[in-house]
Amino acid sequence: MYMGDYIVIERQVGPYEYRGCSVSTGTPFLAEIDRDKRHLFADQSWIRKHPSACPFLRPSGNRIVCTIHETSPVQCKAYRCAIIRIRSHDGKELGYVTGTLSLHSDDPTLMEDWRCIEPLLSAFPGNAEERITSVLIKKGYSCT
Ligand code: SF4
Repeated sequence: MYMGDYIVIERQVGPYEYRGCSVSTGTPFLAEIDRDKRHLFADQSWIRKHPSACPFLRPSGNRIVCTIHETSPVQCKAYRCAIIRIRSHDGKELGYVTGTLSLHSDDPTLMEDWRCIEPLLSAFPGNAEERITSVLIKKGYSCT
């Protein structure tokens, strides 16, 4: 809600693409609005009323969401509390993965399954979020 001074949009470079900058480090980034959040981003009414908020933030129902989840700056990914929430097939929350790719869970089966995922992450860095989700879904978990 107060990242508007730190994450700025410099210019629009495509229909849903923006060149942005993480001001504190001077790091540029290219952001594409997530396909499923383009209608949220298009509505400017909320962000106009909240000029201190990150320009990519939008309300969605009773939540406030990042509309560039896939392409958000590396600092955001690193500090995001939870990038994947993991549930059993019947919806029970079993744990979550943080932006630093650490599992937080007390579920012994999930912890055991995670031990198979960790070596894959160090051997093949990149697209970690997608790959973790894919493996967990194949093992019968639900990921959001
Ligand atoms: S996570 Fe998304 S909404 Fe939050 S500061 Fe980063 S880019 Fe902005």
